[in-house]
Amino acid sequence: MKKGRYLLAVAFSALFAQQTCGQQRVIADTPQAFTHADTLRGMLTPERSCYDVRFYHLDVRIDPIAQFISGSNTIVFVADSEFRRMQVDLFSNLRVEGVTLDGTVAVPYERDSNALFLDLPRILAKGSTHSVTIAYSGNAIVAKNPPWQGGFTWRQDSSGSPWVAVTCEGIGASCWWPNKDHQSDEPDSMLISVTVPPGLEDVSNGRLRGTQQLKDGWTRYDWFVSYPINNYNVTVNIGRFAHFNDVYLSGKDTLTLDYYVLPDHVEKARRQFTQVRSMLKAFEKYFGAYPFVRDGYKLVEAPHNGMEHQSAIAYGNRFLDGYVGRSSSDVGLKFDFIIVHESAHEWWGNSVTARDVADMWIHESFAAYAEALFVEHMFGREASLEYINAKKQNVRNAEPIIGVYDVQHEGSGDMYDKGQLVLNTLRSVIDNDPLWFAILRGLTETYKYKVINADTVIAFVNRMAGKDYSYFFDQYLKKPGIPQFEVFVIQKRDSVTARYRWSTDVRGFRMPIKVTTSENGYEFIEPTTTWKSLLLHSIEPEDFKVAENLFYVNVKLRYGYVDSKLGN
Ligand SMILES: [Zn+2]
Repeated sequence: MKKGRYLLAVAFSALFAQQTCGQQRVIADTPQAFTHADTLRGMLTPERSCYDVRFYHLDVRIDPIAQFISGSNTIVFVADSEFRRMQVDLFSNLRVEGVTLDGTVAVPYERDSNALFLDLPRILAKGSTHSVTIAYSGNAIVAKNPPWQGGFTWRQDSSGSPWVAVTCEGIGASCWWPNKDHQSDEPDSMLISVTVPPGLEDVSNGRLRGTQQLKDGWTRYDWFVSYPINNYNVTVNIGRFAHFNDVYLSGKDTLTLDYYVLPDHVEKARRQFTQVRSMLKAFEKYFGAYPFVRDGYKLVEAPHNGMEHQSAIAYGNRFLDGYVGRSSSDVGLKFDFIIVHESAHEWWGNSVTARDVADMWIHESFAAYAEALFVEHMFGREASLEYINAKKQNVRNAEPIIGVYDVQHEGSGDMYDKGQLVLNTLRSVIDNDPLWFAILRGLTETYKYKVINADTVIAFVNRMAGKDYSYFFDQYLKKPGIPQFEVFVIQKRDSVTARYRWSTDVRGFRMPIKVTTSENGYEFIEPTTTWKSLLLHSIEPEDFKVAENLFYVNVKLRYGYVDSKLGN
């Protein structure tokens, strides 16, 4: 499935921050120029847009002792145009053992950075279906700090058995298997065959179709994913797991819940994972039915904090509430952050996917906002506002939330906490909860299993709301800073007046906002970037307030006791 569009690469320096799922973490604020390799990785080049992936069969043997992987990926695709040269991605540290077209014909290839250019023996006709198989092997990158800096994690459990996971959001799935490593194109379905040594098990995405005992004593696990899947969600979990399960009624469907944890942790897991039911109840209420019901829902214990691997979420929150026992608010300590946040990605990220990682906020801002909605569902709106506003201390406002397109550049780590505050602000601006929830639900249902960008989201909100909020998104997503609300409260002889305006990067910014027009009486006013005046009734200047828990703005409040000359 592909929602492709060819765009010119923009290569200029920008600040670099890395974040993936879970909690953001800023690596460094060092200027970084984009390279040729970044363009090959991040751009929908003609050698990529010429074909549409329909199916992957990844067949990989994983040796935890040698930390060595070998196998192949067969890519079934439809030619979107006539072509002879195509790009597939595979990290340069992995060896290509051979490439074939349609199962038999050997294909010569060239390697350039982490891309592989195949020179097919003949021109493929537009609309025709073909397959290429890339056999490969090597020692894949070891994750320096999973899940943020990805690759393989080779661990042992307390009994000394291998315990292996892979995480590759950001770095890209091509760090461990060959594929078209661009978010615009997902296979419609996928078979993941993982061969593991005797005594070990593999849990991957989707449903287990079967296992096969091989002559050398190793076992092949065949997992089938019956939906489109992002490359970075494709995963393996190898170890000795204890398994328990449950079911959840999702509308008319029965959703299977399967849990794989280290044998020592079954008791703790049984207790902690009861939260899955309330998470599903909340998210199905707000976002519609769980999107991958045929494939089921799984949590798999991982040797890192967690990752949203579709239908097989990696769980590493140590069976604690909060984020490994911490949170910026008290209410954040009342639920398991990883269960809630990573599961939210089943709707935001796995079902609705950003076509370029520059729009990773579509995954992370909405998943972070989903946490706040979970709090609202469980503990009420006040608690949710407490949860959201406690995030202000984490926001940096140094770089825009939207990154640079076509060079595999994610925006600021603010896409989590600021994203949550921004969506809460948008809800306050729209000031119509039935409409707000219809917008959220409309996004998940209209773009289910699809690939979209920021413009899609903005146009959808504008259309649903019947108003143009482009100025809002331009300021909050495309500029580093938040709008400044300048207010001058003036005590005259027998009245109090507020003069106010927006000071923003975006011209024509006109966000309505709630302020007190009488003592504790909040009303909407409609500031613009030019000064306006408002007569306040029976209020002392010091009692003037802006509803800052509903609107994430920077308030610059000044007082005057005589009529001051302001640029009216
Ligand atoms: Zn996330």
